Amino acid sequence: MPFKVLIANRGEIALRAIRACKELNISTVSVYSEGDKDLKHLKFSDETVCIGPASPLESYLNTPAILSAAELTQVDGIYPGYGFLAEDSNFAEMCEKSGFKFIGPNSETIKNMGDKITAKTLAEESGIQIVPGYKEDIPEDPEEFKKIVKNIGYPIMIKATAGGGGRGMRVVESEDDLISSAEITMQEAKNAFGNEKIYLEKFIPNPRHIEIQVVGDGKGHAIHLGTRDCSMQRRHQKIIEEAPAKNIDQDALDQTYEASIKLCKKLKYEGAGTIEFLYENAEFYFIEMNTRIQVEHPVTEMITGFDIVKAQLRIALGMEITLQQESINFNGHAMECRINAEDPETFQPSPGKITKMHIPGGFGIRYDSHIYGGYTVPPYYDSLLAKIITQANSRNSAIKRMISALDEFFIDGIKTNHSLHQRILHDKTFVDNKHTINYLENEFLKDGN
Ligand code: ADP
Repeated sequence: MPFKVLIANRGEIALRAIRACKELNISTVSVYSEGDKDLKHLKFSDETVCIGPASPLESYLNTPAILSAAELTQVDGIYPGYGFLAEDSNFAEMCEKSGFKFIGPNSETIKNMGDKITAKTLAEESGIQIVPGYKEDIPEDPEEFKKIVKNIGYPIMIKATAGGGGRGMRVVESEDDLISSAEITMQEAKNAFGNEKIYLEKFIPNPRHIEIQVVGDGKGHAIHLGTRDCSMQRRHQKIIEEAPAKNIDQDALDQTYEASIKLCKKLKYEGAGTIEFLYENAEFYFIEMNTRIQVEHPVTEMITGFDIVKAQLRIALGMEITLQQESINFNGHAMECRINAEDPETFQPSPGKITKMHIPGGFGIRYDSHIYGGYTVPPYYDSLLAKIITQANSRNSAIKRMISALDEFFIDGIKTNHSLHQRILHDKTFVDNKHTINYLENEFLKDGN
């Protein structure tokens, strides 16, 4: 009997998962909302089940509806993708309890890594450098609190321990704002995450965002697939990602690889994960671990030839897989541009009907997308339309290949950030790889680009 997997997601990642399942002879069940009946991957799926109205809360976040569909179609496992329920430990636990394999780490690991203080503690215990700060309970006495922060040194960042998606964070420049900022962050965290606990970190003023892709077999063995640089971001949303990260201190990187693998081994980490760091002055500072596939995984696949989604499926379903660090080779450079349905200047979402489009192609170009001419982009979900990925021998060649791919690409009918990418790819700071996480917002967009 071949395995059967339910894909609890939509858009490009659902299509990506179906492609991987097909190569492994795994049959697929795709769930979809009433707003998504025209999605491309539904045509390629062996079975489809409508799980509810367009609103994500009633469909892709609706655990009972998804588990009923799994029951009905008798699948072996559930593939969560990214977003929606991918990092929801309760969902993973419900899958486990209902007899479906959650394709990812166990619910306890998801829970531990979802709690930022626990994650920092576990990372630190494995020898990963964390951002200096304070993660004990905040003292009642304001003077004592001020003393602690003075020792860390301003500016600091107040963060909600249950935070996520770039929310629940606040920078404090001086003692005058400390108490009020802490109170506001706690209140916001309580409203947004149902947990008011906060912790403190030194604010790293101008870092790069560097991350390490890891894969573990769930039995204590793990490998890494190198680094990615995702510093080109707006409001903590990545726009361009690349692999590998260039101009990184080799000693710091070697140490960080070693500690990252140690963490995965200690967690008996299962499946794909990403350990994210801020990198400044040749130092890596752990910020979080994502216990799922990431949007930008293709750049790593392109330079390693390692299919991360197939690895997730193989590991979860107990299929044969060899994870050997020595057999991972890195070839050239890869870059990904995220094409979003949004106004390139105001960044307002731009759903609607795609009247005409043309997909780029050619040597070293990969295109991951669920859209097509005549497709109507619904207003209910994330604005990601397509990922254009290029691979070449060097970073400069990958940029040139991307410029050529973007010249071939067009979408009519809705607005996209296509022209923003074209402008960034010709920008000297980007081409010279001198940008940090603040560059796009604080310099590039302000300079009238
Ligand atoms: P989330 O889980 O909400 O994405 P993270 O802890 O990953 O939160 O942080 C999101 C972003 O916030 C980081 O990519 C970085 O841009 C910024 N950030 C987080 N912590 C710090 C810090 N200590 N100093 C400077 N910037 C930070």
